[in-house]
Amino acid sequence: MQAAKLPLLVLVGRPNVGKSTLFNRLTDTRDALVADLPGLTRDRQYGSARFENRRFMVVDTGGLMPESRDPLAVLAEDQARMALEEADRILFVVDAQAGLTPSDAAIARELRKRGQELTLVVNKAEGRDRDTASADFHALGLGEPIAISAEKGQGVPALLRRVLDGLPVVEDDELPDEDGTVRVAIVGRPNVGKSTLVNRLLGEDRLLAADVPGTTRDAISVDFDYDGRPYRLIDTAGVRRRARVWEGVEKISIVKTLQAIEQAHVVVAVVDARADIGEQDARLMGLIAQRGRAMVLAVNKWDGLAGDVREQVRYQVSLKLPFLDYAPTAFISARHGSGLGELMDFVQQAYESTMRELSTGEVTRVLEQAVESHQPPAVLGRRIKLRYAHQGGRNPPRIVVHGNQTEKLPAAYKRYLANRFRDAFKLVGVPLLLSFKTGD
Ligand code: GDP
Ligand code: GDP
Repeated sequence: MQAAKLPLLVLVGRPNVGKSTLFNRLTDTRDALVADLPGLTRDRQYGSARFENRRFMVVDTGGLMPESRDPLAVLAEDQARMALEEADRILFVVDAQAGLTPSDAAIARELRKRGQELTLVVNKAEGRDRDTASADFHALGLGEPIAISAEKGQGVPALLRRVLDGLPVVEDDELPDEDGTVRVAIVGRPNVGKSTLVNRLLGEDRLLAADVPGTTRDAISVDFDYDGRPYRLIDTAGVRRRARVWEGVEKISIVKTLQAIEQAHVVVAVVDARADIGEQDARLMGLIAQRGRAMVLAVNKWDGLAGDVREQVRYQVSLKLPFLDYAPTAFISARHGSGLGELMDFVQQAYESTMRELSTGEVTRVLEQAVESHQPPAVLGRRIKLRYAHQGGRNPPRIVVHGNQTEKLPAAYKRYLANRFRDAFKLVGVPLLLSFKTGD
């Protein structure tokens, strides 16, 4: 099955109108995932969302430049501009309690210039009738406003029905494809070697053949075999387009990257051994982890580096990149093709790990063995008891451990258990989410 690109809604408006409140109301919190993954903080600007079985993405442009009080400056900021360019629908948020302000009018002028479809959202409209709440804002000339209360949730379903109308319906598609095809996204900053890697994996002829004109806005995915196994590369169009227009200052488009991550089973994060590895690479890996995606790190341009340089790069990688306790690292040369066998092995293992089904018997057996070799501590004279465990979900795998006083388990013991499960089930390239239930 082909996973489709998620429709994108972009929130725009001056500070304090309630964009982040609306963002939080719309997006899946996935807070369990964030809480269970050490080192992960939720990205509050980009979120995935679900409404009546449809999935979509939301970007809060206000959050992209929080220090700025000037909403027009926010619109000029790179990531906000890229998000607007990619937007399927722009939601322009205003404040019913404050009424129409000069800032609103200025933003409206900017947005109108873009010629994209706009929905005017009048927030903080609770307790008012719809017509009084929106009366002021007709003056903006942006069509019929929709009155909502982001805080109370009123009007939000109607808003979503209106903005999602006519956009592609994308339903959950987290399970394995029937023929076992592994959907792979290759992400990373510009110039790290993504398109070279794509070329290397596909072979030049294939790539040319897939270069269909007139489809630039849509992701093109390409199927290929590696070592006799079927793969599908997601969004090769994006990879190649970025590569072609590269002029030395191009930035990564986070929304495009996220759309690719959404469609993939396994994400290969590529970094450049010859450039500074840093903040942007780390943030990207954070977004992959936040989505719970299986992840493999590829350190590219490994060819021709002296031994001491390699040591230095390994050190930088371990120092600066998060989530390496689960994401395996392949050192590769996309140009020469070296290391690709290992990379694709990791991709395969990550896929199998994230899709793995574990029986309650198996999981409980590993729990018992772990407890036998290392008992949980006693709390106030009472030993914490762990009775059994079962798989609570997959992609990413989640294991639920049942017992008593589990809320008192020290973090170190939880890590110990996670490692035992990870080893026993040979989980590679995926976070293992452990949760605990005290009861019965
Ligand atoms: P942003 O700067 O546009 O992201 O605005 P925020 O989401 O941070 O909200 C600004 C303030 O408005 C906060 O104090 C919110 O609690 C409040 N707010 C947001 N939505 C509503 C709403 O629907 N009704 C009311 N009364 N207040 C709201
Ligand atoms: P993208 O922007 O991430 O798609 O990067 P490109 O694939 O366009 O590569 C950027 C530059 O890095 C090009 O000049 C490539 O020739 C070079 N490059 C890519 N892979 C390698 C590699 O494995 N080794 C070396 N030395 N250079 C590479």
